[in-house]
Amino acid sequence: MRFLITAGPTREPIDPVRYLSNRSSGKMGYALAEAAIESRHEVVLISGAVSRTRPRGAAVIPVSTSDEMFDAVQRQVPNCDVLVMCAAVADYKPVAVFTRKIKKRDAKLSLELIPTKDILASLPIDRKYLVVGFAAETENIEANAQKKLREKNCDIIVANDARIGMESDENEIEIFFRDGEKKKFLRASKKIIARELVKIFANAREKSLTKKIV
Ligand code: C5P
Repeated sequence: MRFLITAGPTREPIDPVRYLSNRSSGKMGYALAEAAIESRHEVVLISGAVSRTRPRGAAVIPVSTSDEMFDAVQRQVPNCDVLVMCAAVADYKPVAVFTRKIKKRDAKLSLELIPTKDILASLPIDRKYLVVGFAAETENIEANAQKKLREKNCDIIVANDARIGMESDENEIEIFFRDGEKKKFLRASKKIIARELVKIFANAREKSLTKKIV
């Protein structure tokens, strides 16, 4: 199967030397890419700026901003069987980018932000590939994950507690499927979790194909 995986943070420029970003390390997305390759799937990895070595055997597309990630996903997604949106895409970006470095002054400075384009929500409803979203939350994990599953029209949402998963080598996750099924994984290394997730995604994709043929 062909896996398209996004990983890491996006950087939203403020001026030529500054940006807004988040603490995503890319570890989960890279672990998924490695696990998918191990299981002999083809992998295209769209990666935000992270300091990690390229998974051997994956085609890597480096991006920086949420707009670049949006464009890369739009271009690659028609060729995939499973899209895994593991990246921590910024939800907001500055309305305008200063062309010169902002000078320090004594007065307050406000930045006006607008929402970024939602990559998941922009995908067509009628599609051939399986769509997996990630939800890193700090509270009401299940309620927020279920809301995202519906609003972003995903087939699967993998939810984790951002306080455990962010920057860490470990994660604790819960998986929510469109048909209401749920699965929980207690705290384990991202490598172990990634192997299980790849199997689950591949099975879900197989199942959806069989349903369409019947
Ligand atoms: O709403 P929130 O950012 O928490 O949703 C997380 C999920 O949505 C992740 O799968 C992330 O990759 C995706 N996302 C997106 N486009 C955005 C923001 C998040 O596809 N602009």
